[in-house]
Amino acid sequence: MKLEFKNGWNVIDADEKAKVFDFSEGYKSFLNKSKTERESVKTTIEMAEKAGFVDLNSKEKLVPGDKVYCVNKNKGVMLSVIGTKPMSEGVNIVGSHIDSPRLDVKQNPLYDDAGLAFFKTHYYGGIKKYQWTTIPLAIHGVIVREDGSKLEISIGDYDDDMTFVITDILPHLGRNQMSKNGYDLITGEQLTLLLGSIPYEREEDEEVTGRKKGEVKSKIMSIIEERYGIEESDFISAELEIVPAFEAKDLGFDRSLVAAYGHDDRVCAYAAIMAGLECEAPERTSIVILTDKEEIGSMGNTGAKSYFMQLTLAEMMEKTGESATDLNRLRMLDRSYCLSADVAAAFDPKFADQYDKMNSGRINEGIAVSKYTGSGGKSGSNDASAELMGMIRKIFNDNGVLWHTAELGKVDAGGGGTIAQFVANLGVQTIDCGVPVLSMHAPYEAIAKMDIYMSYKAFAAFFKDCK
Ligand code: MN
Ligand code: MN
Repeated sequence: MKLEFKNGWNVIDADEKAKVFDFSEGYKSFLNKSKTERESVKTTIEMAEKAGFVDLNSKEKLVPGDKVYCVNKNKGVMLSVIGTKPMSEGVNIVGSHIDSPRLDVKQNPLYDDAGLAFFKTHYYGGIKKYQWTTIPLAIHGVIVREDGSKLEISIGDYDDDMTFVITDILPHLGRNQMSKNGYDLITGEQLTLLLGSIPYEREEDEEVTGRKKGEVKSKIMSIIEERYGIEESDFISAELEIVPAFEAKDLGFDRSLVAAYGHDDRVCAYAAIMAGLECEAPERTSIVILTDKEEIGSMGNTGAKSYFMQLTLAEMMEKTGESATDLNRLRMLDRSYCLSADVAAAFDPKFADQYDKMNSGRINEGIAVSKYTGSGGKSGSNDASAELMGMIRKIFNDNGVLWHTAELGKVDAGGGGTIAQFVANLGVQTIDCGVPVLSMHAPYEAIAKMDIYMSYKAFAAFFKDCK
C-alpha cells in the first residue's frame, strides 16, 4: 500500500460523513456534563446502565456476553464485556484518562485583600498559567463536612448566571510583566480566583461566628454557608476544581471541529466508552478502563499505576469460574493487548518548526497511532513492537479505519507520556493511539469530528478483531 496523507473528507462516502457529524453530538453533551474526573465517572455509569451494564459487585457469576462496570473511588471506572474465551487467554483493553489540567482550590483558600475576596489555587497538570486569566471559570467538586456528609457542587456555568475569573494586569501597566518569560507572566500564587467585593454588613461577635463587619471574606462565607450549609473549615476536606466555564461547541463555518475544555483525554474516553457499550459477545473479554491522575504521572490509587485494574480483572476472573491464581493472572496480562488511548499533538502550521510534519498527528486524518511517546531519547515511553504495530495496522485497515502515525513534536522539542508504559509494565502488549488535538492543555482545545469518529471505529474494530 502506498504511503500517503489522506484527509478523511476526501476519502469517506456521504453515509459515513453523516455519521461523523452525528457522533460528535453525543460527545459534546458528554463533555458538558463531565468537567471533572468524578463527573466523567458519573456520566459513564449513566450511559453504561442505559446500555445494560450492571455493577460488578451485584453479580455472583459472569458468563460470556455479561456487561459489568466497576468504580474506583469515584474517580475511575472500568467497563467490561465478558468474552467467550477464558480470561487467562488474555483480554483486550482500551485505556484512557478522565482527569484534565485545571486549578485546584487550596485547603485553606479564602482570603480578603483590598476589598476583594479570593480563593487561592494550586494548578494541576501541565498548563500555561497565563492562559487561565481573564476567562470565565466555574467551580466543580465535592466538600466533605465535619459530620462526614458530602456535598457535590458545580457553580458558574450553564444553568448559573454567575461566573468567576482570575484577573490580569492591564496592558497600560504591563511593561514589567511583558518583559518576563512566559512561565513567569503569571505566577502560581497569582492564580487566585475573584469571588466578590461586598463587605459583611452585620456587627457580630467575631470570636463566635468568625465574621467581621466590613470584611468581604465574611460576606462571601455567609453566602456560601447559606447556599450550601458549609463553613470555612470544611474547605479542608474538599476537592474543588476550577475549570473553564466554556461549553463544548462546533468550531468553524463548516462545523468540522469541536472546541471544548478537557478534550485531553475525554475525547478518547468517550470514543472508548461508545465502542465498549456497543461491544457484543466478543471472543476476548473487552475492557474500557478510565483512569485518573494521568496529568500528574498516573500516581496514587486512582491512577494507572494503581492495582485497581489488576484487582478488578482478578475479581472478574473468579466470577467467570477461573481461579485467579498468580499464574492465571500473570498469563492473562502477558497475553493481553491494550490500546493506550490518549490524545496526540495535532500539527499546527503556525508552529510548524516544532513538529516533524511527516511524523505528526494531523487533523482530519483519523486516529493517530504512536509507536512511542516520551521525551528526548524516548524517555518515559512504551515503545510498541513492530509486530504489534503490524497487527493494529491490519485491524484498522480491514475495518475501514482512517489512521496515521504520530510522534509528539520534533525529537528535541519536548515530549510527554501516557498511561501506556504502566500497562505495558504488566506484560500487556500496549500501543498508543488517539485523537490529534490543537492547543492541547489550553482551557479551550480543538479536535476534529472526523478523528473522534475514526477513534471510536478503531476501538470497536480492536474489540472485534484482536483475538
Ligand atoms: Mn492525555
Ligand atoms: Mn495531557
